[in-house]
Amino acid sequence: MNFYVMTLFPEMIEQGLHTSITGRALDSGIITLNAVNIRDYTEDKHRHVDDYPYGGGAGMVMQPQPVYDCYADITKAMAKKPRVIYMTPQGKVFSQAIAEELSKEENLIFLCGHYEGIDERVLEEIVTDNLSIGDYVLTGGELPAMVMIDSISRLVPGVLNNETSAQYESFQDGLLEYPQYTRPVEFHGKKVPEVLMSGHHANIERWRREKSLERTYLRRPELLKEAALDKKDRQFLEKLYWDQEKNV
Ligand code: SAM
Repeated sequence: MNFYVMTLFPEMIEQGLHTSITGRALDSGIITLNAVNIRDYTEDKHRHVDDYPYGGGAGMVMQPQPVYDCYADITKAMAKKPRVIYMTPQGKVFSQAIAEELSKEENLIFLCGHYEGIDERVLEEIVTDNLSIGDYVLTGGELPAMVMIDSISRLVPGVLNNETSAQYESFQDGLLEYPQYTRPVEFHGKKVPEVLMSGHHANIERWRREKSLERTYLRRPELLKEAALDKKDRQFLEKLYWDQEKNV
């Protein structure tokens, strides 16, 4: 899978993603990353890429020409035009489901804005998706692009050592993940739950499922509306609900 990032700060993207798991995936060639500097495409003799907004107001706006030329250069040899994702607080909020959908693409272009954003005309021409990482405003699209690339990459086969670890994670089945424990058996007087050391796989599975349900119920109850639940799950949640009611 090939990631292209259109940005004014390519070094930020390169440094951020060339570490840990994404760094290893890049070194092995399972994913590729091309952070392209929009400033390299300016025709301005002072290398400016922004200008004052028409109509007045605070801040500067990124000009359309360098952004378009950067896009044209990235895509010139591509037979099929890839999706171009604009990082914007005005976009749909990124989720695990969107990460899964995007992980099936061969090429993806992430467009990072800065200052007050980018001239609307070039956005209308090249952008296929508007995505946000949450309802707050950042100074630029680089961190959102890294967040998305990280989460998409780990769904690309071969990026994680253990294929199953992406499978059982929070959100994968609409629930939050169960708590995890490692050695030592006792820490500050707290023991690892007995069942996890029992070797009884069915009991471990059931315990994990119930902890997942309980966590989701307590921390993100709205997720339960969309989660795939069977009869046992529903019975467990009902009991949890009544136990809580009794304790109020
Ligand atoms: N004036 C813009 C608005 O109100 O929609 C915000 C511009 S913001 C200061 C600069 C750039 O940061 C944006 O063009 C976008 O690329 C990025 N950005 C800021 N917050 C973001 C968020 N929550 N998700 C994704 N990108 C964001």
